[in-house]
Amino acid sequence: MMVKRATGLWIILVLVCMALVPLNSASANTLSDIPDAYSKEINYLIGKNIITGYEDGEFKPNQLVTREEAATMIGKALNLNGSTPRVTNFSDVNPNSYAAGYIQSANDQKIITGYTDGTFKPKTNMTRLEMAYLLSNAFKLTDTSKVFYTDMPSGTAQSNAIAGITNAGVTNGYTDGTFKPSASISRAEFAIMLARVLNDTFKVQPPEVTGKTQYVTVDSLNVRTGPGTSYAKIGSLGFGDKITTYSKTGDWIYVKTSSTVGYVHTAYISTTVPTPAPTPSGKKIVALDAGHGAHDPGAVKNGLSEKNMTLAIALKVRDILKQSGIEVVMTRSTDTYLSLDERVSVAQKSGADIFVSLHMNSATNTSASGTETYYTNAGTTSRATASKALAEFIQERLVDELGTKDRGEKTENYRVIYKNSLPAVLVEMGFISNTAEAKLINTHQTETAKAIALGIQDYFKWAEK
Ligand SMILES: [Zn+2]
Repeated sequence: MMVKRATGLWIILVLVCMALVPLNSASANTLSDIPDAYSKEINYLIGKNIITGYEDGEFKPNQLVTREEAATMIGKALNLNGSTPRVTNFSDVNPNSYAAGYIQSANDQKIITGYTDGTFKPKTNMTRLEMAYLLSNAFKLTDTSKVFYTDMPSGTAQSNAIAGITNAGVTNGYTDGTFKPSASISRAEFAIMLARVLNDTFKVQPPEVTGKTQYVTVDSLNVRTGPGTSYAKIGSLGFGDKITTYSKTGDWIYVKTSSTVGYVHTAYISTTVPTPAPTPSGKKIVALDAGHGAHDPGAVKNGLSEKNMTLAIALKVRDILKQSGIEVVMTRSTDTYLSLDERVSVAQKSGADIFVSLHMNSATNTSASGTETYYTNAGTTSRATASKALAEFIQERLVDELGTKDRGEKTENYRVIYKNSLPAVLVEMGFISNTAEAKLINTHQTETAKAIALGIQDYFKWAEK
């Protein structure tokens, strides 16, 4: 597709070059270090006097090309008016330098640009990406249809330039599927690319790269144009989708699917076919733990015992939740004793979604008051996040309902929540040691239970999102 648009210019170039530059194959063949694999391309350019060897008789194929050298060689290839040094648009190009005429001519033709600060940086090495810009601008290589390099985001000006030279048969990257856009370009690489632009017989096919089959392990996985969340989303993959993966950039990997190419996060793919999680029944289950029991009364103050208050309120929470279709498993529903580990075991064996333990607080300072809810950051990040959310929902409902002092959500590794794999909280509903607060909660058991149930329902609504 590109060839049509460039043919006119190409013919003119070749005619001009042939007319003005005498072939000098003798001098080309005297250079000692031209790599055999690319001797045709390099000698072709030497023959056109576009690139030359050094006085010591070497070509120095691995030496890097500076930006002024690149401008000069391209200028010669395009037969730009450059042999006479002159003042340029750039503050850091010496008007008397050998390259000044070519730099300014190339800039006039919009083939080469400087930096936003008005400099050209003539002595800086040219990168492979800059070479792509240079060649795609100079030779109007505008076929930007998709090419496949594992280290290039798609749909950017950069990738368009690289696609342009790739689709024109000027390059096919490296054997590992990369293009290495920021690598400096050597004299051999520069010569090979330029020779391919000028002569069809040197052209190469776009790269074919083999990848590895992997599978998506989540329901919705975004595909992005580049390796990071700041890149645009161009597609979405579903659980079990088969993908072909290529090279990694940090935590991101370049993938091809039946419908798209782009980057996905490596955390959500697997080399084995993932097994779907069992379909949830839709029924929520709460493990409810009334603190203390039997020979362990908990705190006993103001004529009340903690074990009786927690059980009475827990039973009311159970009834309220059941009415709203939430299943409840009680660690105890009578005045019995279970160890802390037994409470955890009951909850986990029941298949519960969450664990809520109820307690009353106590302090020697009888004026201490308020409601507080504990969770722990132990376990997986998702469990910690869920536990914190559960604590916040219950705490807010209780303080709102009872009008108690808001002592907040706190982290503490209490055994019943720390040893638990479920999202888990321990609620200190109020101070049994504070006469007024003990009486308030004891006479408002139903309201207290309702607030806890509402907090649990808030949590389930949040968790479903
Ligand atoms: Zn307690």
